[in-house]
Amino acid sequence: MPRANHAGHAVCLKREPAMAEPGTVFLMYHELEAPGRTRCQSEPGYVRYVLHATQFRHQMELLKREQWQGVSVSDAVRFREGKTVAITFDDGSETDLLCAAPLLRQLGFGATFYITSAWLGQPGHLSQAQLRELCALGFEIGCHSMTHAYLPDLDQNGLQREIAEAKSRLEQVIGAPVEHFSCPGGRFDQRVAEVARQAGDRSVATSRIQANSPSTDRFTLGRVAVLRSTSLSEFRRICMGHGLWKSRASLRLREAGRKLLGNSNYDRLRNLLLRRNPSP
Ligand SMILES: [Zn+2]
Repeated sequence: MPRANHAGHAVCLKREPAMAEPGTVFLMYHELEAPGRTRCQSEPGYVRYVLHATQFRHQMELLKREQWQGVSVSDAVRFREGKTVAITFDDGSETDLLCAAPLLRQLGFGATFYITSAWLGQPGHLSQAQLRELCALGFEIGCHSMTHAYLPDLDQNGLQREIAEAKSRLEQVIGAPVEHFSCPGGRFDQRVAEVARQAGDRSVATSRIQANSPSTDRFTLGRVAVLRSTSLSEFRRICMGHGLWKSRASLRLREAGRKLLGNSNYDRLRNLLLRRNPSP
């Protein structure tokens, strides 16, 4: 039975059926953890999003085994027939090139790597040369802002810098267009979509937990974060679009907390709570 899954449609959670959402799930990854390598950050709120490289490999192998195709954002928004998931990475950690890219290549999967422009060359992050290498391997490069600022907190000049200038800086590095943007921390408002559109972007990815379909606004694409705590069976359900409403309910709770406390107070409190009860 068709059901509204367009961006921003409020649906009563209690009535939401536990069925697969129509459309394509866009997976969101971050840094991977590899033996002998120090993570870019150590706060529990960050580590929660860092998967072990082997965990990532098991997920990708499951996709291959079960005849899924992993694709970039550009490919995914064509919404072709068949079992498809979009594979995306945020932040521009060097593990994008060192761990993710070789495996994705081996399995024949595409992906989009959203890069934080000003983090290029910072410890643990891709250098400019590594970014060019990632691009030369055939992967899609997107932009994840200039400094990872929370965009709704910024004025118009700030948005220009974080969206338009960050995009052209990446374009200068790789010598090719960068046409997809993802929001740091998933923080989004309509001004972000407008500035991205004017800068020439073709899509904006948020952290809105939903599958995307041809009727989804390209400037409010949903994505589902794969966490360190995500089991292989949960991962499988996510790809099929099952049970996304549960994650949505918990995200809404977190967003309510964020509104109440403000972005920075919320982050402090969240890190404190996660430290007391860390993810495995
Ligand atoms: Zn990020």
